[in-house]
Amino acid sequence: LEARVPVTGSQDELDLLAKTFNTMLDRIAGLVANIREMGDNIAHDLKSPLTRIRGLAELTLVGNKDSGAFESMAASTIEEVDRLLSMINTMLVISRAEAGQGEFRFEPVDLSGLVHEACDLFDAVAEDKDILLKCTVPAPVVARVDRGMIQRALTNLIDNALKYTPCGGRVWVEVVDAGGGRVEIQVHDTGKGIAVSDIERIFDRFFRVDPSRSESGAGLGLCLARAIARGHGGDLCVESVLGKGSVFSLRLPKDNVPVT
Ligand code: ADP
Repeated sequence: LEARVPVTGSQDELDLLAKTFNTMLDRIAGLVANIREMGDNIAHDLKSPLTRIRGLAELTLVGNKDSGAFESMAASTIEEVDRLLSMINTMLVISRAEAGQGEFRFEPVDLSGLVHEACDLFDAVAEDKDILLKCTVPAPVVARVDRGMIQRALTNLIDNALKYTPCGGRVWVEVVDAGGGRVEIQVHDTGKGIAVSDIERIFDRFFRVDPSRSESGAGLGLCLARAIARGHGGDLCVESVLGKGSVFSLRLPKDNVPVT
């Protein structure tokens, strides 16, 4: 920022050039700050599971090798390592998708079937929290998508809707033909909602509104879901009212695949 060029206000070409240069400098400074923050977040999020793994390994070393405790410690270590690997794998999928190098396998997929399958996965969780989970799909809607990736994005959204909605609430998933060859999978909830000041940040890597809350995960789910949507030529958008609920819309092009 010390490299900023003084602006004289004379409105001539040189002055305009100085302003453009300063704007570019501000953007670069913003990017550097983002990268620094991301680095801090990554270091923090990798540190906790690694510390736990180290603790388990130490216990395994000093513990009684004949007891069942040894087996249980080995199992816990594997669980922690798997969690870490899954986090790293998610980070790689995000980076590749954002760089336009996502290895998506597009095929015609009936989104109504996909949405039903995704909702079925959460029946037990919804029942546990006494949340009414419904999916409304008017007719078969076929789109050219990567089935596994859209399933992943959608399960993240439903998982969040259930996590951030108190017991007794409602979560519903709708597939809406948005016209112009586009389709929207909407996930509605009657949960805690998101403050206006946080609404764009929730898509950042590792951002959590309240990291101390036990329901918060690694903070990668929405970033991944948006990267997947954008990798399909679509987007992930949100509308939310604090204390009332949220709607996440996964917007996808149908690519003019005829309904079969
Ligand atoms: P996490 O693993 O923490 O759920 P996400 O990337 O999926 O990470 O979401 C980022 C943050 O956005 C969450 O920690 C939460 O604060 C907020 N959030 C996501 N979905 C919802 C929702 N449906 N209602 C309210 N807040 C939400």
